[in-house]
Amino acid sequence: MFNTFSLVFLAALLVMCALRVWLAQRQITHVLAHRGRVPEDFAGRVDLKTHQKAADYTVARSRFGRTGLAVEVAMLLAFTLGGGLQILHDFWSARLDGLPYGVALIFSVLLISAIVDLPLSLYHQFVIEEEFSFNRMTLRIFLADHLKQAILAIVIGTPALLAVLWLMARMGELWWLYVWLFWCTFNLLLLFIYPTWIAPLFNKFVPLDDPRLRARVEALLDRCGFASSDLLVMDGSKRSNHGNAYFTGFGKTKRIVFFDTLLGRLQAVEVEAVLAHELGHFKHRHVQKRIGMLFVLSLGFLAILGQLIDAGWFFNGLGLTSQNTALGLVLFFLAGPVFAFLLTPLLSLLSRRDEFQADRYAATHASASDLVAALVKMYEDNAATLTPDPLHSLFYDSHPPAALRIARLQNA
Ligand SMILES: [Zn+2]
Repeated sequence: MFNTFSLVFLAALLVMCALRVWLAQRQITHVLAHRGRVPEDFAGRVDLKTHQKAADYTVARSRFGRTGLAVEVAMLLAFTLGGGLQILHDFWSARLDGLPYGVALIFSVLLISAIVDLPLSLYHQFVIEEEFSFNRMTLRIFLADHLKQAILAIVIGTPALLAVLWLMARMGELWWLYVWLFWCTFNLLLLFIYPTWIAPLFNKFVPLDDPRLRARVEALLDRCGFASSDLLVMDGSKRSNHGNAYFTGFGKTKRIVFFDTLLGRLQAVEVEAVLAHELGHFKHRHVQKRIGMLFVLSLGFLAILGQLIDAGWFFNGLGLTSQNTALGLVLFFLAGPVFAFLLTPLLSLLSRRDEFQADRYAATHASASDLVAALVKMYEDNAATLTPDPLHSLFYDSHPPAALRIARLQNA
């Protein structure tokens, strides 16, 4: 049953693991080496205690990441070469066929993965986040969140999955093109309904009522040529002390959301600067570009799957003696990320470029020094390390390292 592709898959898996372990180790070593002293650029802005908390938090999360990796790899191998998926197939194919078989198979895989992940996310939330006093979630909220996510996955996921499996079965050779069109439409629809239908299931959103801040923000929107959008405050403090702000939606559902945790910490001018950064993302159409890129990538992936779905070696190589479209889909989503992992640095690079661009926009439409002050507070509140390992940062970070970002802002 096993073939050359099994070896290729194992080699790719080994490369991914080695890279992830090595980068995590570099990060831990680098952060610990710089733990003793606040970097010069931040002297006077950040105190030693805060700096060390960020170092310890970064190290704790990197170490926990290794456990996560071990579990992930064990599960992947159990499903594929270990024969887990074959067992699920044998079980369901004896009871169901056609679309119901496909849905049952895929939901079993998702359910097993979710059960395996549960202790990891419990540990992350109630041990790591708790230890660094970020956690504000109760077990009750945690379970309610997971339950709501499961219900959403079933309510929204089942019809989508049925549609994909149906297209795969009925559309002949070029099914992947139809699936791609469906997938794009489905994602746009989700983005459209997310702010008004999904986000409120998890958080409360109330209009921003501080009149002084409102006036500032509205003046900024005016200056940047934005038709007024909804300004909302989200109860982020329900779950965590981390703070953030974001811009979401298109057209009529467009809205600006501030975490209450962020508003509690920043001065009005700093909130304005953070918002100007978010507006920069919007003005430069970063979200649209990101969506466009993901659509192109998914077309590529689906075209590859279009070839693999009839290839016996792909199924055999990943531990299966049976072959059908639902199994092919599962295998592709299990094994694909092992190969796609190598795209991570490229995606990170593009994202960091966008961040610099948004910072430049903020520096022209608000105050660069206020943005610097806000960033320093946000780094503190998120205990983000000021001294990441350069290679680790290059590979993973969606945001440029603090020192680099602030240096550019100060020269803006
Ligand atoms: Zn940004």
